[in-house]
Amino acid sequence: MPLGVHVSIAGGIGNGPARAAELGCDTFQCFGGNPRGWKQKDISDEEVARFKSELKESAVAVSVIHASYLINISSPEDALYEKSITLLTEELLRAEKLGVDYVVVHMGSSRGAGSDFAIGRVAAAIRRIAAAHPGLKTELLLENTAGSGETTGARFEEVGAVIDGVGDAPIKLGFCFDTCHAFASGYPLATEEDVASLFKEMDKEIGLSRLKVIHLNDSKGALGSRKDRHDHIGEGCIGDFGPFLRHRVVGELPLILETPKKKPDDDPRNLALVRTLLASGE
Ligand SMILES: [Zn+2]
Ligand SMILES: [Zn+2]
Repeated sequence: MPLGVHVSIAGGIGNGPARAAELGCDTFQCFGGNPRGWKQKDISDEEVARFKSELKESAVAVSVIHASYLINISSPEDALYEKSITLLTEELLRAEKLGVDYVVVHMGSSRGAGSDFAIGRVAAAIRRIAAAHPGLKTELLLENTAGSGETTGARFEEVGAVIDGVGDAPIKLGFCFDTCHAFASGYPLATEEDVASLFKEMDKEIGLSRLKVIHLNDSKGALGSRKDRHDHIGEGCIGDFGPFLRHRVVGELPLILETPKKKPDDDPRNLALVRTLLASGE
C-alpha cells in the first residue's frame, strides 16, 4: 500500500514530490499554499510543470493536498461562509491544474448552530462548487474531526449525512479517515474487535467505497477527549496500531503520516515503524 507523510512546500510546491521521494514515500500530502492565509498566490505555469515532472520521475503514486485550516463551510456567518467556498474552490482548481488526486478538507464548525444546520450548510457549499465547476478530476475528501469546538464530522453519521445532502451533484466526493481524530472523538482502535466495529459503522454510515485516504496519527489526547493533538505512532494513547494496519480495508489505501516533526529523524522513524507493523502481518 502507498505510505507517505505530509511534506513542506517551502521554496515552492514543486519541491513536494522530491521531498516525499527522499523519504522513500510512494504517496504524500502537502498544502496548496499558506494554510493560514486567505490570499493564496497563483501558481505559475513553471511551478505546475515542475511539480508534474517531479511527480512523474518519483515513485509517488498518489498525491494529496490538504486544504487551508481557515475554511469553514459549516459557518453560520455569511461572510466567512462565502470566503470559505471561494478558497475551497481555489484549492480544488489548483489541485486539478497540478494533477493532484485528492483535496482533503475539514468541514469547520457551526459555532453552536447545531449539527443539522452544519450538515445542510456543508452540503450546500459542495453543491455550489460542483455546479460552478462540474466534472473535476480531483476528488474532494471530507475528513473526520476530533470534535472540539463543535466541528462538523466527528461522527460518521454526520459525514454520511453531508454526502447524502450533496446527492448526485457533479463532483467526486469521498472520505479521509484520521485515526487521531477518530480516537479523540470516541472510536477505539487498538484491538481487532475495535477495528472491525469501526469499519462496520463506517460502512453503514458513509460506505467503505468512499474511503480514499487514511491519515495515520497517534493521539496525545485520551479516548473521547476531543483533543486534536497528533503524536508519534506508538507513543500516544491509541495503543497497538497492528490490528488497524492489518485490517483488509486498510490494505490498498494510501496511508499518510501527520505526526510531529521536531527532529530530522521523526518522519523516518515513524515510517520505519509503520513498515515494520505492516510487514509483521504478512
Ligand atoms: Zn488529518
Ligand atoms: Zn488533526
